[in-house]
Formats: sequence, structure tokens, C-alpha cells
Amino acid sequence: MGARTALVTGGAKGIGLGIARALAERGFSLALCGRSVPENIESLKKDIAGGKGTKIVFYKCDVSDEAERTAMLSALKSDFGTPDVLVNNAGVAPLVRADLLEMSVESFERVMRINLEGPFFLTQAVASMMKERKDAAAFRCIVNICSISADYASINRGEYCMSKAAVSMATKLWAVRLAEFGIAVYEVRPGIIRTDMTKTVREKYDGLIAEGILLQPRWGEPDDVGRAVASLADGNFAYSTGQVVNVDGGMTVLRM
Ligand code: NAP
Repeated sequence: MGARTALVTGGAKGIGLGIARALAERGFSLALCGRSVPENIESLKKDIAGGKGTKIVFYKCDVSDEAERTAMLSALKSDFGTPDVLVNNAGVAPLVRADLLEMSVESFERVMRINLEGPFFLTQAVASMMKERKDAAAFRCIVNICSISADYASINRGEYCMSKAAVSMATKLWAVRLAEFGIAVYEVRPGIIRTDMTKTVREKYDGLIAEGILLQPRWGEPDDVGRAVASLADGNFAYSTGQVVNVDGGMTVLRM
């Protein structure tokens, strides 16, 4: 059997890079994508492969653009065949943290297109490829990188929270729809993870962590999320489709 292939959107930095590293460690070949090809792509590939001969191809693809999604999948098909795993990781915060009363239509549409429409229709297209596979007994899954913000209401980035709440419903919908094809669908909810996305609010979160917002009082790292996703991709939770895995240092445990 050849190496299994995983497509990780936004796999060149942040949480996506942590996921790519963990999947490479477990022997996956990797298809990664982002809006632009990183300048350091060759050294990045070496870093991800960690000394193994991992096959890694980076595609320039804006997940919110239908034509770019189609072009990426067609190139991916000839480079790797049908992927075994899709990780919908690429996502953005609003460019401006504006109060709900001030949120612009442009910001709402941008966040929804990238965080919801992109992953939803990429899932649709990849699932159509997966269900036609001849070796249908092989484990296949789709992992949506959601967020604790699917449940936590932040009034200065409501469009982000709404996009993640909708991704959560998309996880359930796809789990139901794809079960008959043996394709599992999971959701991973990171909490406070040290990446570029949280760079501008580092001091705020340092303070909240010091005040005890987490049970495990440290920043989450991309590798924490990577290991959880790799475990799902490896089939360790093959009988748990539709489920949510929190990677949040215990932040969402109800306490009194
Ligand atoms: P990040 O460091 O800003 O990385 C985001 C990644 O997504 C980059 O690789 C970026 O690539 C890619 N991306 C953004 N827009 C894209 C688009 N339109 N098309 C293709 N790729 C795109 O953010 P992160 O913290 O790793 O976030 C990754 C995921 O985790 C997101 O879905 C985010 O919502 C979620 N999350 C993060 C946290 C956290 O605390 N950091 C918490 C909960 C959930 P380019 O730069 O090339 O576009």
C-alpha cells in the first residue's frame, strides 16, 4: 500500500503547520495550500518532513475561490490521486475587531467566505472524489478545524463566532451524509493557540491565563492541535464520526 495522502489547507504556518508535521510523522504524504506560496517553502518542506522522505506539494489556492479550489483538486489528483484525509484548517479572524453594532457587510462576507463557504465546498468536492474510490475499505476522514468560538460569544468578532458555529453544523451535516460511504467527519476545537492569529491579543490572553481561564495554565501550541488531528486521521477514532475534540487546556470545562 502506498503512503496515505492528506490535504491540509493553510498548512504552511500556525496550526496548519503543526498538523502537517504530525501527519508527516505518521507517514502521510502531504498536499498543502495557502493564498500564496511561502518564500521559504523548500526549507519548510524539510522542516515538516523531519528527515523522512515525505512527499509534500504546496498549491497556491484561496479556499474561498471556487475556480482555485477546482484547479487545486485537479492538480492534486494527478500528483497524488484521491486524498485519504482532508483537514479544513485555513481560516481568518476579522481584519478589524469591530463591535457587533459596527460590523461591516464586507467583513461579514469575507470571514464567511473563507471560514465557512471554502471548507464547505471543498468538503463537497473532496467527498465526491473519496466516495468513488475503489479501495473503499481504507480509512478516510474529514477534519474541520473549528474553534471554542463556535460556542463562546465574542461581541467584537461576531462574524468569526458565527462562521465557526456554522462550521460545527457543517461537521454534523457531512457526518450524516457521508456515513454511508464510510467517510468519518470530525471537528477539532482549539482554544488559545500561539500563532499569528493570536499575536495581536497576546497580552490579553497572557492575563486571562494568569487569572485561571484554563485548567492547564499555558498557551496551546500548534503541535498540540497537530497531534490530535493526526490521531483522528490515523483512524484511532474510527467509530466516533460527527464528534468534537476540544484542544483547549480545559477551558470549556464547566466549573463553579
Ligand atoms: P494563522 O497562523 O493566521 O494561519 C492561517 C492559515 O490559513 C495560513 O496558513 C493562511 O495561509 C491560511 N489561509 C487564510 N486564508 C486563506 C484562504 N483564503 N485560502 C487559503 N488559505 C488561507 O492562523 P491559525 O491560528 O493557525 O488558524 C488556523 C485555524 O485554526 C483557523 O481556522 C482558525 O480559525 C482556527 N483556530 C485558531 C485558534 C488560535 O488560537 N490560533 C483558536 C481556535 C481556532 P496564507 O497566509 O497563505 O493565506
